[in-house]
Amino acid sequence: MFNALRKGFGLTGKTMFRRPVTTQYPEQKRAPEPRFHGRHILNRYEDGLEKCIGCELCAWACPADAIYVQGGDNTPEARYSPGERYGADYQINYLRCIFCGLCIEACPTRALTMSHEYELATDSREAMIFTKDRLLAPLPEGAGDTPHTDAEVVARGMTYYPGPAAQRPVGGMPNAAWPDPNGSPEEPVGPATVHLGDGETEPPTHGE
Ligand code: SF4
Ligand code: SF4
Repeated sequence: MFNALRKGFGLTGKTMFRRPVTTQYPEQKRAPEPRFHGRHILNRYEDGLEKCIGCELCAWACPADAIYVQGGDNTPEARYSPGERYGADYQINYLRCIFCGLCIEACPTRALTMSHEYELATDSREAMIFTKDRLLAPLPEGAGDTPHTDAEVVARGMTYYPGPAAQRPVGGMPNAAWPDPNGSPEEPVGPATVHLGDGETEPPTHGE
């Protein structure tokens, strides 16, 4: 009996003088680990164009069916991304998301990444559905908001897709993705700016 008391009080006494490990959240916030999965960001290029090309691969990869994407066609007068299409409507439902990161693995342009932001609690169900305006990254300094015109994009002469795949094919026309370094903004645009016409395709239904 005496031994048990001595051990118990001994442990209490030792612990009393240890440094507390409790974090006084929300007054104090701990930095998440580098690979922590927080809420998503839809990234931009440094000139403000959006990296999302509306391909819907992220939506198809999502096991919780938390993403909705509707692609739209870029036109020479209104270009949102360097590709043919852009994410016209983009939504993530954080009531469904399990923060697994499969969507960011599926994204071919690194448009979608996850931040360290974890404070998502709210008392409104609607507010848990993040629309494109809340997901889009802030504009880089000096960049103009989308849409841009093809003439503006070609004049900047940026390479949007680095690596061998970024090289303009022999005989390929200069365009927003493959600008001609010696060309003028008035040059005709090629495949990346082809307007696909008025016939919108229906978004695929999951679980078909
Ligand atoms: S993190 Fe996982 S659950 Fe959340 S949107 Fe991406 S794929 Fe879906
Ligand atoms: S975020 Fe990536 S995967 Fe999703 S639609 Fe846009 S480009 Fe495609």
